[in-house]
This record gives sequence, C-alpha cells and structure tokens, in this order.
Amino acid sequence: MKFDDVLAILNDVPDYQVFLTVDELKASTHRLANRYPNSVEILPIGHSRQGDPIETIKIGNGPRQALLFAMPHPNEPIGSMMLEYLSLRLAEDDALRESLGYTWYLVKCIDPDGTRLNEDWFKGPFSLENYARHYYRPPACLPASGVDLSHRLQDSPLSRPAARNAGADGSDRAGAA
Ligand SMILES: [Zn+2]
Repeated sequence: MKFDDVLAILNDVPDYQVFLTVDELKASTHRLANRYPNSVEILPIGHSRQGDPIETIKIGNGPRQALLFAMPHPNEPIGSMMLEYLSLRLAEDDALRESLGYTWYLVKCIDPDGTRLNEDWFKGPFSLENYARHYYRPPACLPASGVDLSHRLQDSPLSRPAARNAGADGSDRAGAA
C-alpha cells in the first residue's frame, strides 16, 4: 500500500462530532455483521466484571492475523472511533481487505464498565470542565479479589510514605489525559 492510498482512506473518514457509547458501538457492530454476513462475524470473547459481554469482530480471512483492541483506558474513546471506521471500511472495501491479507479481530471496547462511566462527556460540550466532571480512569493497579498484593508492594516505590499519600486511593486521575 502506498502512502497516497493511506491518505485517500483518511480523507474518507467521516467528520465524527461525538464519541459513540458502548451500546451504540455494539449496535453498529451488529448492523455491520447483518449487512456483510460473508465477511463479518461477531465472536464473544468474555464479559466485564459488571457482566457486559465483550465481543470481537472478525473480518476477512487472510493468512495473517491482526488483533486490535480499543479502550484499555476508557477515558480515551478515540481508539474505539478508529475501529468503528476501520471495521466499516474493511467490511465494505473488498479490494482493500484482500490486498492487506489479514484476518482481522477488532475489539471496539475492551472495558465496557469503565467506558460507561465516561459516557456523560461523550456527546459534549467538549470543554475541560465537562470532561473533568464526568471522566473516569480506573486505578492503575486493581488487585484481584482475595489476592494479597501487599508483599509485592513492599519493595516498590508505592510502599514509600510519600508515594502512598500522593496516591492514597490508588487512582492515577492526575496523570490521565
Ligand atoms: Zn491510553
């Protein structure tokens, strides 16, 4: 693929004005699979802690495999919009899909629970205040329930009193962007 081909694809990306919610992303995925049943398949890959199903969209059948997933940081929804467009483009553009030679596995939202906690700012207004009031960033380190991680923390910088005071709730909100 030439660089001009990439630019041509970028020119086709719609001028999205808002971010899609978890439910909107899912509805769009299912519309895509209904419209392109020969090239698009939806596969369940698990559930969130709140019980939300997590799906991957399998597109194409090339010899190489590519896995792309969005929203590991649920306050960064631009990745889901990228996969929203890429999934549409790969499904409808037979020549592109076949020239790339991949079987694609796209997960538009790997953290539905955290994403839902951000949705109050997804439709704007896109101001610092509205974002600051409504965004959610998960703690950097959430121990699995029942697992005692205290021994692992003893030798880490987090065990120093100053660090503990700075991040008493385990959140990294201050550093999120
Ligand atoms: Zn990130």
